[in-house]
Amino acid sequence: MPMKPPAPTPEAQFSVKLSPRGVARLKSGHVWVYRSDVAAAEDVPPGALVRVTDPRGKFVGTALYSSSSQIAIRMISRDEVTDLPVLVAERVRAAIAYRKGIVSNTDAYRVVFSEGDFLPGLIVDRYNDVLSVQILTQAMDAEPVREAVLETLVSELKPAGIVERVGARIRDLEQLPPRRSGLLWGEKSATVITMNGGPVDGVRFHYDGLEGQKTGAFLDQRENYAAAAQYAHGEALDVFCYQGGFALHLAPRCSSVTGVDSSRPALEMAEKNTALNGRELEWIEGNAFDLLKEYAAAGRRYDTIVLDPPAFAKTKRDLDKALRGYKELNLRALKMLRPGGILVTCSCSFHVGPQDFLETVADAARDAHKSLRILENRTQAKDHPTLLSVPETSYLKCLISNVSV
Ligand code: SAH
Repeated sequence: MPMKPPAPTPEAQFSVKLSPRGVARLKSGHVWVYRSDVAAAEDVPPGALVRVTDPRGKFVGTALYSSSSQIAIRMISRDEVTDLPVLVAERVRAAIAYRKGIVSNTDAYRVVFSEGDFLPGLIVDRYNDVLSVQILTQAMDAEPVREAVLETLVSELKPAGIVERVGARIRDLEQLPPRRSGLLWGEKSATVITMNGGPVDGVRFHYDGLEGQKTGAFLDQRENYAAAAQYAHGEALDVFCYQGGFALHLAPRCSSVTGVDSSRPALEMAEKNTALNGRELEWIEGNAFDLLKEYAAAGRRYDTIVLDPPAFAKTKRDLDKALRGYKELNLRALKMLRPGGILVTCSCSFHVGPQDFLETVADAARDAHKSLRILENRTQAKDHPTLLSVPETSYLKCLISNVSV
């Protein structure tokens, strides 16, 4: 008689009990539970796969546990899960398949967006034949999970190289051992990407996986670049231009484009990108606040202005200061825009909600004695999916307006 195979040992042997408030939060559709709403988590190791229960011990789902983050619980399933690497591999494949329907005209896009793809703590970006991976949580950092991610990416996307970008502060907060950014797989870490079109009409950028901010480029603005280019005209100013994302998209539509940024390495890359696209643009290194003040005082005028500053509100406490910053920038830009001009104004601070942002721009318009007509009220590109019940997955605002006297 054939022997019965041994039953697999369930991995989710650890349990976390939530307070009634923690359960209510999950019922609302959110996937995070803060440590203050965890009633009991005895002997649960860092990064464990855990069974989550209500105060009476009734099973409510499976989650990833963090022993150090304020977000103690990140739900990954309403069902029992016993093999995390298998589930992660399945979800990475699903994320790749999801992009097939929503991403076109680009070889650079976000492949996995953490909670937005039901993979909390994992970010993967594709830059043509180079992939960039970021790991933000204890559970995703476990070796078997890393292996599952790499194997799936290699077999599904066949890259020439995979780099890991390490956020030292994030690893510190998650109490993970220090790690270096570098190549995880293959040979290649730098390449050229083409977005918003094919090899002939698309806009090209150099990408170096081991340099630059974020994972190298601001892919979340990809659809906004194309939208802004539709309305751009005349003399254009791209403020906080980084490596020229907006500026290079506006160039074919405008008589002149000037980009401003405080980072010299970013501008050096912008210059290389200009040559790559056969354009001539002007790049100015400086503090955007000072420069706008100076240009406004000197009576300079533009037909198109883009404002895409870094996140001013990193926490809720910074909100008032952030709103004052956005107001000042928008006010100065509006004063310099000619009638019929186009304002493209962005905020990537999650803590500044869409309504706060609209009110701040409206406030600036009032002070500048200008009327704005909204052309497009946009958000991040669709390859950075927003989960309706998880507000934190939506962070980018991009408002395109026509400015009248
Ligand atoms: N628009 C860019 C992304 C901008 S990110 C794109 O689409 O690619 C924000 C940029 O603001 C960074 O490049 C950073 O170097 C720059 N920056 C931050 N503070 C600044 C300041 N005070 N003045 C000018 N640039 C600044």
